Amino acid sequence: MSIFTKKRLISFVIPVHNEQEGLSDFLEHKFFPVTKKLKDYRTEYIFVNDGSTDSTLKIVQDYAAKDKNIKVISFSRNFGKEIALAAGYRFAKGDAVISIDADGQQPPNLIPEFIKKWNEGAEVVTGVRDHYTKHGFIAKIGSKFFYKLLRKMGNEYTVPGSTDYRLIDRVVIDEYNKLTEHNRITRGLIDWLGFKQTNIYYIYGSRMAGKTSYNFSKLFHLALDSFVSMSTTPLMILGHLGAFIMLGSFLLGMFCIINQYILGDPLQLYWDGAVQMTIFITFLVGIILVAQAITALYISHIHAETQGRPLYIIDKKSSRNL
Ligand code: UDP
Ligand code: MG
Repeated sequence: MSIFTKKRLISFVIPVHNEQEGLSDFLEHKFFPVTKKLKDYRTEYIFVNDGSTDSTLKIVQDYAAKDKNIKVISFSRNFGKEIALAAGYRFAKGDAVISIDADGQQPPNLIPEFIKKWNEGAEVVTGVRDHYTKHGFIAKIGSKFFYKLLRKMGNEYTVPGSTDYRLIDRVVIDEYNKLTEHNRITRGLIDWLGFKQTNIYYIYGSRMAGKTSYNFSKLFHLALDSFVSMSTTPLMILGHLGAFIMLGSFLLGMFCIINQYILGDPLQLYWDGAVQMTIFITFLVGIILVAQAITALYISHIHAETQGRPLYIIDKKSSRNL
């Protein structure tokens, strides 16, 4: 390489939320030892402090004080990891951007492999976790089901087990940064963007310290949100269900009329008006309730988008080197 061609820049985006226990250990012993060896590239590090309430902010600020290539975006409160990634991606200046968790579950020693795939022409390299290392039966079944549904709903690119350990080329980042939705699941959106994508499979480790911020209910809501924001299939399913129930009740009603009023109840069911009413009302109430729930979900999303709020709020005082 001639001295006149500038080395390409790689940006690392690391969302952090209450990671004080393992963060320094992760950076010193796992992460920096790998990234400091990338001699053919310039590097920048963007920590997105997502409303930590422990000393995480202080830790990353101390790093930033020593190195101007270490940047800290500090949110005014917790906005969630998807939004933290969005902020990091917007600030990243790199020719490629690599996002990685700060808890050590995504092994940094694969970073050179991500870069290699990028140099071979891939524009998105996604880290896909080995399924069988997943902790917990429910989590396993849940994520299997989640990806099945995601695919059914038209996101055929999303490979089961895809994680946010990912390299993205500048062209894709520029497109990603144009997306404005608030309800977002980064994986789904990146896949939706297209471009040349490839995967790297890895064993998902266990946390170095601390505990996950995603419990079952948080994951469930994330999954639900991503379905609603990525597709209208739930509405279609509802339509089918409604049609099915209506047809069913129509047939039952016809049966009732014919059996009772035309044939004189040969089956001796003695269904009186109250029973008939109950059949119909139960069905109709069912349809209405489900329809209402789904419609409400969509309206809540429309509501959030039309508010036009910024995705996140940065606390400039505690941010560094931006
Ligand atoms: N994280 C974040 N905001 C949150 C929750 C988590 O920025 O509200 C960060 C967290 O510090 C970590 C990464 O996102 O670097 C993954 O979080 P976690 O390990 O809790 O999720 P899991 O590995 O269980 O999917
Ligand atoms: Mg984790």
